[in-house]
Amino acid sequence: MKSAAARYSLGLVLILPLVLGLAAAVPAVGLTYQEEAALFSYRDLGPVDLSPKKLEVEVYVSPSPELAACRRMICLVEDQVQQFFARMGVNLVYCPAGPKPGLLAPAQRLRVELLSHREWLDASSKAFEVAPPFRLRFLQVCRDKCAFAHLPLSVTHISFKRFEEAQLSADPKDESLNRNWLANLLCHELGHLMGLYHAEEFVNHPIPVRLPDKDRTPNFMSQKIAFKKALGFVEFQRLLVHSYLGKGKVYRQYQYVNFDPLRYLELVKLHNGYREPLPRASKVAQRVQQGNPGTFDDDDDDD
Ligand SMILES: [Zn+2]
Repeated sequence: MKSAAARYSLGLVLILPLVLGLAAAVPAVGLTYQEEAALFSYRDLGPVDLSPKKLEVEVYVSPSPELAACRRMICLVEDQVQQFFARMGVNLVYCPAGPKPGLLAPAQRLRVELLSHREWLDASSKAFEVAPPFRLRFLQVCRDKCAFAHLPLSVTHISFKRFEEAQLSADPKDESLNRNWLANLLCHELGHLMGLYHAEEFVNHPIPVRLPDKDRTPNFMSQKIAFKKALGFVEFQRLLVHSYLGKGKVYRQYQYVNFDPLRYLELVKLHNGYREPLPRASKVAQRVQQGNPGTFDDDDDDD
């Protein structure tokens, strides 16, 4: 079985604009420094509506032959994902998913696309608006990834082919482990589309990589979720999600940065005094030394 050490990064959505030289989104509304600090302070999320939230989700599985195993797995996986979010008070309602997305909207209707590798590369370069001169560079960035979450588009694109080859076990007796892994990937990616970032992002924030329970359950927004039967979350993440889905303070934070996760993290870091585990360059160097230069998904932290 492949090592679960596969690291995925919330990071790509965050890093790609830098790598590809794209302009960062400009905040739509200008605030003074003090107003911005108050908006991004996690000390007080303001009133959070914790009533159950309905969230529509389209799960599109490409008809490509590369998705044969995915088609076999997806029904049970969808149930697992639904059960996970129900514990958080989020009722996922699966909607029919054709090749063209429905009317997607942040905090209302999201979409997960499970694609062939070629389809994934095409969808990703389109979503990142990669201009032709940067295409080769983009392919390099994609080399060890299999998923990108695009918060502004309310879509996650997953290369099932890459995921299957790089992550899943080929041993038939590991079928249920593989299903767990795919379910966990979907939970994680949907977490990004609900405004959450990686547990590993900062060293001094209230989002641990593992829960403080006796099983040390992995946090679903951590990078330790491969094949795990159970994932968890902390109360603070539940508050963040409800604040986002209920269009409370967290939603307003994202509106302020045009739903740009990179800018969002910069401001969260700045206004809460959070520190990253290691400088970005050191982390990359460390991973290269360890022969593990990459991570598996999308939107940020260490890429
Ligand atoms: Zn991630």
